[in-house]
Amino acid sequence: MHSLFNGKVIENYPLHKITWFKVGGNADFFVKIRSIAELSQLLKEKPKDMPLFILGAGSNILMRDGGFRGLVVKLAGDFSKWHIENDNTVIAGAGVLDKTLALTMGEAGYANLEFMVGIPGTIGGALIMNAGAYGVEVKDVLQWVDLMSMNGEIIRLTPDDLKMAYRKGHIPKEHFVLKAAFKVQKEDPAVVQDKLNSMLDKKEAAQPMTGRTGGSTFKNPLPHSAWELVDKVGGRGLKNGNAQISIKHCNFLLNLGDATAKEIEDLGEEVRKRVKEQEDINLEWEIIRVGTPLLTL
Ligand SMILES: Cc1cc2nc3c(=O)[nH]c(=O)nc-3n(C[C@H](O)[C@H](O)[C@H](O)COP(=O)(O)OP(=O)(O)OC[C@H]3O[C@@H](n4cnc5c(N)ncnc54)[C@H](O)[C@@H]3O)c2cc1C
Repeated sequence: MHSLFNGKVIENYPLHKITWFKVGGNADFFVKIRSIAELSQLLKEKPKDMPLFILGAGSNILMRDGGFRGLVVKLAGDFSKWHIENDNTVIAGAGVLDKTLALTMGEAGYANLEFMVGIPGTIGGALIMNAGAYGVEVKDVLQWVDLMSMNGEIIRLTPDDLKMAYRKGHIPKEHFVLKAAFKVQKEDPAVVQDKLNSMLDKKEAAQPMTGRTGGSTFKNPLPHSAWELVDKVGGRGLKNGNAQISIKHCNFLLNLGDATAKEIEDLGEEVRKRVKEQEDINLEWEIIRVGTPLLTL
């Protein structure tokens, strides 16, 4: 595989370096793709039976200790660009960071994307998760999204096509998010900046934004809050080796330094078990667990 695609594919790539939890084994193969043409070429050259994982900023995944048996693809280059159209739309590549987009829109005096300022992922990940904060979700501002299938076909879908829901983008499986268009509106930059600052302050006060974490661990089993249930069953501050449930916000799992992915996952499972036994509620993982556990003899 590494000899294909102009030798740009790296073998045995350490994924812990590029995920927020800073855990996980190696990918058999890893490649950064910089344009739609490169992506089409890669999909033509990739053996059809080789598993593929699309990695954004790695802020919502737990990569297991055994790593990923297949090809991990990260979008960069052209996918990290955005532009404004008609003063009411921003078109952003899948590799653009949500925070960067929110901040630059603010500086340019465009409102609507402020909620993205505290979300450390990419536009691709935001579409997959229907990411949201403070009552606004991607689906509320999305006009359309362009996707590429594993056969290289490009389709454009709207929120009506997707029927997005709480933390579910309903993006068809085995598709790359290429770029998306969002509704924006002209606003006094100072007003947008105030909103951005207040959202960032609130987030930093309530959540461990700089820790080695994967964001909200479990989806809220509405009408309940996941953090309340975790707290109720004694989860706050609970440890397993070097993994801990955050004391600041107990729907966040933390890697205290050199935790393994297994320690983190087992801690999450322990809490799920307690919530099921004590509250009869099934907590559903929001964090996406990827790859294989480390085999021990
Ligand atoms: C400190 C912290 C705070 C957070 N706060 C919030 C919050 O307020 N609101 C919120 O909704 N989330 C929050 N999150 C979670 C996370 O940032 C979001 O879910 C984000 O949208 C994930 O984007 P990502 O690029 O990191 O995706 P990754 O974690 O890399 O991947 C997530 C999923 O998206 C897929 N994916 C990524 N890019 C593409 C693409 N181009 N095409 C197809 N599939 C793709 C991956 O295959 C994977 O299935 C937080 C996380 C952290 C660590």
